[in-house]
Amino acid sequence: MKQILGYRCTLCGAELPYDESMTCPHCGEKGILDIIFDYGYIKKSFNRETLANDRTNSMWRYAPLMPLKPRDFSPFLRVGWTPLYPSRRLGAELGLRALYIKDDGLNPTASLKDRASGVAVAKAVELGYDTIACSSTGNAASSCAGNAARMGLKTVIFVPQRAPEGKVAQLMIFGAKVVSVKGDYKATFDLSKAAIEKYGWYNRNAGINPILTEGKKTVALEIAEQLNWEPTDWVAVSVGDGCTIGGVYNGFHDLYELGMIERIPKILGVQSTGCCPFVDAARENRPLVPAEENTLADSIAVGVPRNPVKALRAVSASKGAWIAVSDEEILDAMRVLGHTEGVFGEPAGVTATAGVRRAVQEGLIRPEETVTVISTGSGLKDVKNALRAAGSPTLCEPSLAALDNSGLL
Ligand SMILES: *Cc1c(COP(=O)(O)O)cnc(C)c1O
Ligand SMILES: [Zn+2]
Repeated sequence: MKQILGYRCTLCGAELPYDESMTCPHCGEKGILDIIFDYGYIKKSFNRETLANDRTNSMWRYAPLMPLKPRDFSPFLRVGWTPLYPSRRLGAELGLRALYIKDDGLNPTASLKDRASGVAVAKAVELGYDTIACSSTGNAASSCAGNAARMGLKTVIFVPQRAPEGKVAQLMIFGAKVVSVKGDYKATFDLSKAAIEKYGWYNRNAGINPILTEGKKTVALEIAEQLNWEPTDWVAVSVGDGCTIGGVYNGFHDLYELGMIERIPKILGVQSTGCCPFVDAARENRPLVPAEENTLADSIAVGVPRNPVKALRAVSASKGAWIAVSDEEILDAMRVLGHTEGVFGEPAGVTATAGVRRAVQEGLIRPEETVTVISTGSGLKDVKNALRAAGSPTLCEPSLAALDNSGLL
């Protein structure tokens, strides 16, 4: 593949040829790989001008920056090119110069995970696999199943028993074989790993597979392009495994290396205080240790993150910051984003917004700065928590008198 020079191990730094292997042969499973792109080669056919003339309204407009062979991507689900809304009210309420909301809940299976799954499915098709497998807290699974269904691939999915019903319903509708594991996310992951080894399926497990980050980076490419190549001072994103935030950094880093943006935004990594191994490690300046998974934001309840190196690098290399918010703050952000902007995010989806609020309160983000928050998933998948955040409707007899007396109006 001409756009790729090779792999570099994020742990030992070894440079390796680009092939089908997913982790470093010297470091084993922890040796997560970076893909090294040949920016000089890519520049020739991919730049601001070629994009300005490209009508592709999906993440496939960035295919030259992906580890895939050139092909027609129109048969795939339409992933990406989600709206970037200038906030009409929330930004002012927070006292910010400008706030943008990237609503990635509007992807085909309703989360940012479609970006990774779309690329994984394209790779599985390119390599001739007939089955793709993954373990997930929910969105990776449903996006994998949806994107695979569209391309006629079979899927085997491992979810922890606690996965919300909406996400499990998606899996069943997309025709996946679903294994609901009696255990936490780590147990789920370990079982999927053993099964993938045994049966030889294509592996869409977050962290391990370096192409997933390269799919997720398209959210950063879009933010930059939608802001006319002048991204905001900060970009805030919620963090579980660390693959998304790693991708956000990679996207801006690619654009910087290609000379398409002048600086990389500061990246704010946001977790829930109920499960914040990254925030704790950063605060205490020590390596990550396993954390409890005690938050209602199920998509980021990851006690043992699979992509720690890329996530830590995203924040340190961008001179960003880590911050944690309580579940109460998350529920509040869900309500506020819905009320003030018409964006309905799931708990993990709005965690970044809660994080920006806290970062402003703590003086970490200053009023003259500009911010983009990524809303990573739709709230319709987790109606239980939405109702917890927003309350119940007013019960009323079918008469005007009763309506007048209801106290609602
Ligand atoms: C997966 C997910 C995240 C976090 O992504 P990681 O790669 O696990 O850090 C955030 N929000 C939503 C909605 C997700 O599904
Ligand atoms: Zn290595």
